[in-house]
Amino acid sequence: MPSTPDELRHVMLGSLFTPEVPLGPTRDILIACHVSATGKGKLHGSPECRTLRSAASVDQIDVPFGEAVERLCASCRWPLPTDSLILPLGAAVSEVDSLAIWLDRESKDEEDLEAERDAAIALAAGEYPPRATESGDEEEEDDEAGRDEEWERYERARNFRSRRHEHWRRLHSYLTRSNEAVSEYPFLAPWADGLQSRLATVLDEERRAFAALVQPIRLLEAAAVRVLPKPQFSTDPGFAGLGAEAEKTFRRAWYEWSQRAIWSWRRLEDQDFAVYTVVSDAFGRRRKGKPEAHAAFSRFTADWIRQAREEAGRPASTAWQLVAVKAPALVRTHHSEPERDPLTLWEAAVIATYQVAFNRKAGTTALLVPHLIAEQLLACASDDMPVLRLAPDGSALPAEVLLEQWDHAGITLS
Ligand SMILES: [Zn+2]
Repeated sequence: MPSTPDELRHVMLGSLFTPEVPLGPTRDILIACHVSATGKGKLHGSPECRTLRSAASVDQIDVPFGEAVERLCASCRWPLPTDSLILPLGAAVSEVDSLAIWLDRESKDEEDLEAERDAAIALAAGEYPPRATESGDEEEEDDEAGRDEEWERYERARNFRSRRHEHWRRLHSYLTRSNEAVSEYPFLAPWADGLQSRLATVLDEERRAFAALVQPIRLLEAAAVRVLPKPQFSTDPGFAGLGAEAEKTFRRAWYEWSQRAIWSWRRLEDQDFAVYTVVSDAFGRRRKGKPEAHAAFSRFTADWIRQAREEAGRPASTAWQLVAVKAPALVRTHHSEPERDPLTLWEAAVIATYQVAFNRKAGTTALLVPHLIAEQLLACASDDMPVLRLAPDGSALPAEVLLEQWDHAGITLS
């Protein structure tokens, strides 16, 4: 049945299918080509192609795709019926081929590396410059210029970390999508393998660079917040200004603070703002008793932090465990919108920090993590992100092998 124009897709076959791409069964599909009457030169998808202008006359011939692929014009589009098997294969080839854009990039110069090392030093202290200690009046002006510089330094450092984090996730997604393409068209594997292996090297460099900007202790303390009992409300002289709203405000403050703390890579002290906002909102425009309430809540937050650190420090919290995780790719949304990352900052930082093995073909990672972190990872397991305790009863096998076993037995079952 002849196709109507509505049912055609115009595809630049020549730029997508280079001769080294395996075609599988599509190599026998006949495609309509236009060629100069001499029969020599490139094959074209349209008789209107500029390169054909000088030809005395143009012939149309049907050529098996496998033969045509050596001679495809790179700037022509071929009209293909929407049910052509070449279309989904082309999409898969494009997923693999796009790995190349991340390879052979210029490496950072010494100045960039120095700036990144400084970022790691800054972030080791917290998200923001440490509070200045009391100083004499005469130093105040000098101090102020110095403070500005420090704030800029920390902002730069946080930006470094965000960029590393986002880029690592982006590369991971490209690899994941190329794996999906290969599993759909296994004959692409020999061609894809070289690109994927080189991408995996770049991916790992990016992961290490990101992990260098994250402090593992913060991730453990965040996991400790998750297991803290919900604090009991009791009246406090500092709550006087809140009146009947005191208990509700207290619960909201804990909820906001703990949710932020659990899913973050930040130092616990750097979540104070969540509590501050809840208390300020409760007061609205009223001022009476507000400073006292802020002071009371600061004491509570300090106590929650103390409890979390105590929990994180228990021997049972820190016993090492081997866990496997298959991290999801970024989610493609509308064309013009940025891709959405299903991983929280905490999850991403944990996966980057504790990796001991990575199975490139399955996209699975083995992590050696403290018990509390293993518990939280298992708690966030889902169909999108399967998590499994590897060898819970111990095993002499290396993590790579255990990971591979999971690949064969585990994911395919779900
Ligand atoms: Zn052409």
